[in-house]
Amino acid sequence: MLLQALPPLANVPIEIPLLLIDARRFAPFLSSRTESSTVKPSLIRHWIDAKPHGTESGRRFQSVNPEDGTVVAEALRGGADDVDKAVDAAHRAAEPMAQTTPSERETILLQAAALLQRDADEFCDLLIREIGSPIGKAKMEIEIATRLLKANAGITRRLTGRTYPSDIQGRWSLGFRRPIGVVAGITPFNVPLIKGVKQASTSLATGNTFVWLPSEHTPAIADRTARLFHEAGVPPGAMNVVFGDGSEIGDHLVSDARVAAVTFTGSERVGRHVQSICGAEGKRVTLELGGKNPLVVLSDADLPTAIQAAIRGGFIYQGQICMASSRIIVARSVYQAFLDGFVAAASGLSLGPLREPTTMIGPLIDSQTCDRIRERLRQAVERGAKICCGGQWSGNRLHPTVIIDVDEDMLLLREEIFGPVVTVEGANDVDHAINLAASAPGILSAAVHTASLATAMEFAQRLPTAMLHINDSTLQQEPEVPFGGDGASGFGREGMETALDDFTRWQWVTMRGV
Ligand code: NAD
Repeated sequence: MLLQALPPLANVPIEIPLLLIDARRFAPFLSSRTESSTVKPSLIRHWIDAKPHGTESGRRFQSVNPEDGTVVAEALRGGADDVDKAVDAAHRAAEPMAQTTPSERETILLQAAALLQRDADEFCDLLIREIGSPIGKAKMEIEIATRLLKANAGITRRLTGRTYPSDIQGRWSLGFRRPIGVVAGITPFNVPLIKGVKQASTSLATGNTFVWLPSEHTPAIADRTARLFHEAGVPPGAMNVVFGDGSEIGDHLVSDARVAAVTFTGSERVGRHVQSICGAEGKRVTLELGGKNPLVVLSDADLPTAIQAAIRGGFIYQGQICMASSRIIVARSVYQAFLDGFVAAASGLSLGPLREPTTMIGPLIDSQTCDRIRERLRQAVERGAKICCGGQWSGNRLHPTVIIDVDEDMLLLREEIFGPVVTVEGANDVDHAINLAASAPGILSAAVHTASLATAMEFAQRLPTAMLHINDSTLQQEPEVPFGGDGASGFGREGMETALDDFTRWQWVTMRGV
């Protein structure tokens, strides 16, 4: 690999460990260290109607620790029959669930939040072992999932209706929000707890029932999450999980006529496929997909802040985050100073043990991902790109990689990379920066660093992004905001307000005296 001589860090003070997720912030939340479980995992069965479902003789698959290839869990590999049973249970439970009171649903979700805090060490251990999360990322997931549960408990009290004026004398015209019934949720490998909890708790808060198809990489995390909801008091049949290969059973779940809505998080390729089935069958769908997320640094930016934001956005969980800022665009007047500081900071990121709070870069999820990224790097270098730091591998870990001299012909610049690889480009002026950023097929989240709020708001107006963060990282999440993207990055929004519309149906009722 071509490793350029690094210029000295140009007056850019930066504290590398502190710019990580800072696991210490969550210290009260978890004990300081979680140890790997040595207990042999038992077979994970589907979770249907509040109990494990399926027999020992069923087909199986394994989830594997991406760090060392050891088996973390063995789960039943579901077929169409298992999907049918899960949807049967959810369908049977839909009516009683719709009758639950706000207080009942609120209590369940708050209890789930309390249980997640109680069992945080166990979840942390699973997130480390099953998907190679450094501990800081694992703790971040647990904290965000807890907040989502608490926030969604609040939705239960906001299912308000409306009254309408009527042209008919003596008529009352009323609008009610009703639950839609069975929601199917499909989640990716990278944030299984956040996404599983978000989809399930939004469905349950709005009085619906839920069938979950988690990523084939995360059966242990999903099984543990289902049991947590069960212990919190979710009624039988309201929360179900089917394990297996999404490409085998996903269509069967999505196309079941009793499934009223699908909430999908994953790649654009699979998301579009799911959307096409939902479109053909006239059912609701929300897609949360990936993005080529730009972080723009203008000439009046505060460079240490911009560098910290770029490091956080580019490298947390080794870049396997939908909002990862894999593309940095910098005004030419500060380009070299930014690059010097960014490369120095990236080179100093720790690839230490996953349970060390300072570790930023862990293993990529599987060997296909490693091969795909190797190929993108090879192609970019062949076409003239320069690797400023990184590019070398330690097992499944790619050292934080910063690349310059890239162009639009390189897949590296056109595709979501989903690894610790960040490109840096120079921009002549604000227009050029906006044009470069906008050339990506899909932006989920963008960031702009500037002292001028007027310029920042110009970005908000002109950049085709659904989420923009000013003087911050592209990586942000709060329960109440309209979260999501458009085009290649998604369809619809997650969040408390938007969930009310997505997970309920309006019913118009009129009433006249007799
Ligand atoms: P993926 O698309 O490969 O898989 C996602 C899920 O789809 C898995 O559960 C899989 O089993 C299932 N699936 C596969 N084929 C299916 C089918 N025919 N029908 C129904 N389901 C099917 O994605 P991944 O590699 O697990 O996750 C990474 C992707 O997720 C990235 O693109 C990332 O940007 C995106 N992501 C987006 C967000 C967001 O909020 N926007 C969050 C996390 C991840």
